[in-house]
Amino acid sequence: MLDIEGLVVRYGAREPVHHGVSLEVAEAGVVALLGANGAGKTSLMRAVSGTLPLHGGSVTAGSIRFLGQEVAGANPASVVAQGLVQVPEGRHVFGALTVDENLDAGGITVRSREARARTRRQLFEMFPRLAERRKQRAGTLSGGEQQMLAIARALMARPKLLLLDEPSLGLAPMLVKQIGETVRDISREGVPVLLVEQNAAMALSVAHRAYVLELGRVVLSGPADELARSDEVRRLYLGEESGPRPGEARPVPELDRWTA
Ligand code: ATP
Repeated sequence: MLDIEGLVVRYGAREPVHHGVSLEVAEAGVVALLGANGAGKTSLMRAVSGTLPLHGGSVTAGSIRFLGQEVAGANPASVVAQGLVQVPEGRHVFGALTVDENLDAGGITVRSREARARTRRQLFEMFPRLAERRKQRAGTLSGGEQQMLAIARALMARPKLLLLDEPSLGLAPMLVKQIGETVRDISREGVPVLLVEQNAAMALSVAHRAYVLELGRVVLSGPADELARSDEVRRLYLGEESGPRPGEARPVPELDRWTA
């Protein structure tokens, strides 16, 4: 569904952020993109959603094809119109507007009133706390509720692919778990998700495939359960010592690996 090949993003004349990143998202399931601070995860999301120019950046090499169409360099509105909707990092909601009004804003590109109403009903089933607070101003919601609202607002646009950038950032462990369950529900409802996360444990528990980005390069990729068992990921991202766990024999699972 989404096919990124040889991507290079730059901000002005600075060193490139990526050195030819390639990544694929299938038509179902969750793909996690993991990596430490500064690896280039958010820049990749911006490249896909067409929002890089708003941050002074651009795609200087490579391609981003969505359902066969090139979207690298497209403007954000046309990317949304094609069905690619991003929830940026940082729980951006319209604080002065109510929950309902935020959802209205998310559904603005959907022409059918009936379709908007149906989506809203489904979202209120998925997010009952938002249903209880539909007349409350978004700025007065808790951090977790604001994150749920940011996700729900994006889903109002009925995306074909949802891009989620660090939805767990700054949330308590209980809420991180809820966000993970929400991501799983979204994908079960038929909307594939590209999930950028620093919380590798949560991301790998909900993802089907995962990529690990280091300083602008994909250094590991493969099925999420295999990555979760690999020594390297356990040591670097899950805070565990490497070595076989009790009762478990090597070898380490086969993983695709690029070091280019
Ligand atoms: P984090 O997990 O901390 O959000 P990240 O993996 O998402 O990190 P990016 O935010 O994409 O990484 O940053 C990658 C590199 O690009 C960093 O070196 C960062 O300083 C640089 N960068 C990001 N945004 C800009 C910008 N607007 N202008 C200049 N450089 C930027």
